[in-house]
Amino acid sequence: MQAVVKEAPGPGNVVLKDVPEPHAGPGQVRIAVRVAGICGSDLHIAQGDIKLRVQPPVVMGHEFAGVVDEVGSGVSGWRVGDRVTAETTVSTCGRCRSCRDGAYNRCPEREILGYVHDGAFAAWVVVAAERLHRVPDNVSLEEAAMTEPLACCVRAMCDVAQVHPGDLVVVAGPGPIGLLCLQLAMAAGARTVIVGVAGDEERLDVAKSLGADCALVEQGGLAERLIHELSGGEGCDLFVEASGTAGAAQLGLASLRRGGQYLQVGLAGQPFAIDLSLLAYKELKMLGSLSQVWPAWERALLLLSRRQVNVRALQTHIFALGQWEEAFRVFASKRGLKVMLRPE
Ligand SMILES: [Zn+2]
Ligand SMILES: [Zn+2]
Repeated sequence: MQAVVKEAPGPGNVVLKDVPEPHAGPGQVRIAVRVAGICGSDLHIAQGDIKLRVQPPVVMGHEFAGVVDEVGSGVSGWRVGDRVTAETTVSTCGRCRSCRDGAYNRCPEREILGYVHDGAFAAWVVVAAERLHRVPDNVSLEEAAMTEPLACCVRAMCDVAQVHPGDLVVVAGPGPIGLLCLQLAMAAGARTVIVGVAGDEERLDVAKSLGADCALVEQGGLAERLIHELSGGEGCDLFVEASGTAGAAQLGLASLRRGGQYLQVGLAGQPFAIDLSLLAYKELKMLGSLSQVWPAWERALLLLSRRQVNVRALQTHIFALGQWEEAFRVFASKRGLKVMLRPE
């Protein structure tokens, strides 16, 4: 089968090539991939600058949905034809503090699909049955391919941070992750502001169409003034940094209310300076979130099924697997939002 493979470490070394068809071993199922999304981390794997373990040669791709087409021995509860998506965590150590706390997303030995184990930029992918999640009947497989990024945002917004009805939530960065966090804040009954930079206008229009109360391009302190005004001078309750930029981080610390929550989901790639004394002066809570665990997947699928999160609005491009290079280029250029690959 044709697959997009990271062949060797370092920048580049990604090719479309023929690899052996995988088969389900004991405890595993094989999934015929319907569609797989390109994630920011895929670009970093391609560039060779991701800080999580990657073990080439490996088939890339970790955001996908499809249909079970082979069931290994010892698997119960799953049948050929089941519509599924699967977690990106393939294995963890099971012994560390995080594993024993049930937070296996934090396990230092976590091995990820599409990083260490062959992923979904191919016609078939094999996963352990225990990592499967059933796609509700009223959710399309295209929508379900967004469960992974949505589950990341569910963990961040519902498990790590606390959002209450009536809160003022500010999201910086109108990319796919920012727009999913925005919708989760809306689903929780919060008032929402989303902030972008010049060039983000189309993405901010999507945010408005999704129901954001305010969507604006930051320029000359505009965002801070607006947040000040909307909160009667108090500041926002929760600031979600989903852009990975120093400017957004500073805006967050400056515009949060005293006792507010700062949530980091963006990855800057480079360290930058921020004024941490504001944490003390304002008694801020600084939070971070990475990846997801089982309950976040189930909640994400429920929210899709109940139409409380719209992922279709974010899926702007779909390419055949053979056009992966063009797809990566479009995604890297920030044209559109989510770019998907469909195996031929
Ligand atoms: Zn991802
Ligand atoms: Zn562990």
